[in-house]
Amino acid sequence: MSGPLVQLSGTGARNPTANPARIEGGSMSNAPMQDGFGRTVEYLRISVTDKCNLRCVYCMPEEGLPWLKRAQLLSYEEIAAVVRVMAGMGLRKLRITGGEPLVRRDLPALIRQLRAIPGITDIALSTNAVLLADQVEELRDAGVNRVNVSLDSLRPERVDAISRRAGSAEAIFRGLAAAEAAGLAPIKINCVVMRGRNDDEVADFARITRERPWHVRFIEVMPTGDNLGVSAGEYVSADEILQNIEISGDLVPVAGPAGNGPAVYYAFPDAPGTLGVITPMSHTYCGSCNRMRLTADGQLRPCLFGHVQTDLRTPLRQGSPLEPLIRETLRIKPERHWLEQGSSTGSGGLRALSQVGG
Ligand code: SAM
Ligand code: SF4
Repeated sequence: MSGPLVQLSGTGARNPTANPARIEGGSMSNAPMQDGFGRTVEYLRISVTDKCNLRCVYCMPEEGLPWLKRAQLLSYEEIAAVVRVMAGMGLRKLRITGGEPLVRRDLPALIRQLRAIPGITDIALSTNAVLLADQVEELRDAGVNRVNVSLDSLRPERVDAISRRAGSAEAIFRGLAAAEAAGLAPIKINCVVMRGRNDDEVADFARITRERPWHVRFIEVMPTGDNLGVSAGEYVSADEILQNIEISGDLVPVAGPAGNGPAVYYAFPDAPGTLGVITPMSHTYCGSCNRMRLTADGQLRPCLFGHVQTDLRTPLRQGSPLEPLIRETLRIKPERHWLEQGSSTGSGGLRALSQVGG
């Protein structure tokens, strides 16, 4: 990530001998996590790695990015320590993301630690599903409640082309079937719609919600430093997406599946699945934002985009208290993001969402 950052860091007493694994993370107060605009935050998205086994055209450059070094990554114990502090402040829901979270070794070990934290009621996973089939039962048994799977096409050759990895489609469809068989529900499908690559499949995705219990969410592509070719040239608005679907039948607005997200949902009568649109570009939903993000290297970000982040890793490793830093990060949570179509300026120096956990 480049560009200037508003960077907070620990100011508490140093204790270089502190063992992060033993940080207990007691809470100073029971005040709910409210930001400066009165929004209550009870949801944390945790990126466990910036690496990925795919190279989706709207996300990462083909050659990858400069990866974080191992020592820069929070250990599972350190992630759990942060969550423990925040759970004492009102945090309830977690999403594990990345990069691709399943490329980090023994993810179920982290899930088990997080599941044991009092106050945490929901743990979801965002994955490309390439490695899901082999791990899904252990992840479920460890405490994952549900999964979101990225799937940008129903046609295998297009999945392979968009993800720039031959054979990925086969693994992803196997992963999805395994998630269904393991009883993880609801299964949400994230589909980034791009003109000329998959926008002609919107009606096909709609149709599949009549057959499968999939909750398909069409996402407007967001601009970052490394994807301007796609985000500027292939952007399709949610309004246009919905127009395409309405042609194919009698959709009605519905409440949508359980979750924490900003999607607006529709369904065909009696269909097991639903359809939704996520509209970060055309209609921002920042006014009801309920989340913060923890990057793989321990930066707490109050907004996906922008320059504000707080280093929790240094104070955590020094044994300094985290709660004052978390409260201050919450206080300065921006009112909204400043993304603009065709420009990466509002992304705050991000090259790809994989760097912060999209
Ligand atoms: N690797 C996992 C996956 O693909 O689900 C988790 C990380 S990925 C960054 C999280 C979500 O961000 C995915 O649904 C992906 O489609 C979405 N995403 C990535 N870059 C995006 C962009 N520029 N605009 C919109 N969505 C994006
Ligand atoms: Fe990897 Fe997810 Fe980014 Fe695709 S969207 S490159 S799967 S992190």
